[in-house]
Amino acid sequence: MNTTKKLAEVLRNNHQHWVGDGFPVRTLFSYNGHGNKISPFLMLDYGLGEFPPTEERRGVGEHPHRGFETVTIVYEGSVEHRDSGGGGGKIGRGDVQWMTAASGVVHEEFHGREFAQKGGAFEMAQLWVNLPAKDKMSSPRYQEVLDAHIPAAELPDGAGTVRVIAGEYAGHKGAAKTYSRLNVWDVRLKPGRIATFTVTDGDTVILPVFAGAVRVNGEGTIGTAEAGLFDQAGSDFTVENTGTEEAKILFLSGEPLNEPIAGYGPFVMNTNEEIYQAMRDFQSGKMGRLA
Ligand code: MN
Repeated sequence: MNTTKKLAEVLRNNHQHWVGDGFPVRTLFSYNGHGNKISPFLMLDYGLGEFPPTEERRGVGEHPHRGFETVTIVYEGSVEHRDSGGGGGKIGRGDVQWMTAASGVVHEEFHGREFAQKGGAFEMAQLWVNLPAKDKMSSPRYQEVLDAHIPAAELPDGAGTVRVIAGEYAGHKGAAKTYSRLNVWDVRLKPGRIATFTVTDGDTVILPVFAGAVRVNGEGTIGTAEAGLFDQAGSDFTVENTGTEEAKILFLSGEPLNEPIAGYGPFVMNTNEEIYQAMRDFQSGKMGRLA
């Protein structure tokens, strides 16, 4: 039986902080505040800025991760990345890098060199996706998901588009492989149009909006740089673009892992003992080094 999935909260954050000297971000949600209510997702940083030309490297140098995946989505500008697992590359507008830290990597994230030299608008999001406990110590993996490889589907009645970064929409399978059942879609909804979505009852749904404003189920509104968090109960909901510009929505949904979460900085595991072990392993070089 299908039941309405209700918008539970609208999350926003007026406080911006810098990640290194390249990424002015707002954390729109985090497991610190919401735990398994946002599972399998852990955190979302939304970054927006205007940069003058420079010959310097802007970004964040060598740092570790263990126990989850970092998913970087570039809307404007470009990001260069290198990790100790041998992954790396440069991604630009419309591209995504899906890095599975799992047992541990050390990596760096910088603006692309040509973008830095030219300067301009920079817009990106970094999503942290948790791994099931059984996969946290598996081998690291790097998926470069280029714009051209991301399937694009139409919403019914030409209301907009869905780019399937991961998961599946209307028979279109996502470009990235995942460890649990989840969807990450780049949804664009035209002004005045409405779309209906159905997910498995019990799934987490979070809708960060990066342009425009949308109304959910004819009630609550999610504005620009806000994220709508839904009740896990329920399956069906509508999203209506009530503004005059195209709405840019990062559609996130998935089966909650419902496992204990213990996190500290760049490590997210299930117990504090595993966090201490992660610190020791990083310090002793077991997560590798950048060449
Ligand atoms: Mn990182």
